[in-house]
Amino acid sequence: MNNFLWEGSREGSKDYLINWKLVSKSKAKGGLEIGNLVLKNSSLLGKWLWRFPIEKESLWHCVIKSKYGYQANGWDANLVVRGSSRSPWKDISAGLCDFSKCVQLVVGDGRIVRFWEDIWIGDKPFCEIFPRLFRLSRLYNASIDSLVSPSTIPVDWNFGFRRNLNDVEALEVSGLLGLIERVVLQDSKKDTKKWNLETSGAFTCTSFRNFLCNENPYPNFDPAKFVWESKVLPKVKFLGWLMAHGRLNTCEMLQRRRPNSCFSPHWCVLCKQNEESTSHIFLQCELASHLWQKLYWEAGLTWDF
Ligand SMILES: [Zn+2]
Repeated sequence: MNNFLWEGSREGSKDYLINWKLVSKSKAKGGLEIGNLVLKNSSLLGKWLWRFPIEKESLWHCVIKSKYGYQANGWDANLVVRGSSRSPWKDISAGLCDFSKCVQLVVGDGRIVRFWEDIWIGDKPFCEIFPRLFRLSRLYNASIDSLVSPSTIPVDWNFGFRRNLNDVEALEVSGLLGLIERVVLQDSKKDTKKWNLETSGAFTCTSFRNFLCNENPYPNFDPAKFVWESKVLPKVKFLGWLMAHGRLNTCEMLQRRRPNSCFSPHWCVLCKQNEESTSHIFLQCELASHLWQKLYWEAGLTWDF
């Protein structure tokens, strides 16, 4: 497939007929749904990141934990940063940044989720929303339940600030309390992680792969429906797909790619008068225009170009 989309398979320099990244996208995004094996592999490795905090009793969890230790969040193993290490966990943990964007923490008893550093309300951690209060707090990496006086309803928060607050800081605390006023810790329910990309909240490789593929989304490819759902031969659909992307090897395109190899850049092979561009040979060329008029006349439609 890759060779087919190259201009020839001979030795030496070659031209891309069309960008391979675009080819690997879904048809709705303008590609051929070839997929990306690197991203597929990353999505499969993500399963181990999901299972690690869940399977705390398993042998493999204990091995990884003893070798690399936990991160400060208490959920994930440390990243492998040593250059010489060839550990499989190095490849797995390399995907933690993307993986973490799809995970939401669900607070139960509040014993694992960190109050300031973790995202558990909204889409930012409180240490970023209230940096001034975070610096005043003595309780870095403190779990939510450690900031709460036991058995008080409504919840009584103790932030452990190093000094008395000024008016501005007191106002910020008021805003913070407004965000967490509905929080109720449940002793019978543990803190958990939820997979944001599935309504069930459970990780799936497919959803993670789709997320990775659309990390830098292409705009929707409007002609996709017309091209792929038309009732014509596949090779005609493929031609229409290339035409819609403006990647057909017309003389005009060849002139731009390899000026020294194109012998007749300003000569249409049909009418032998105009420059051969995509719009010319399919619409504006005299012969093409006659063909369209005939087809329209046969279908009882009006030619309006
Ligand atoms: Zn022509």
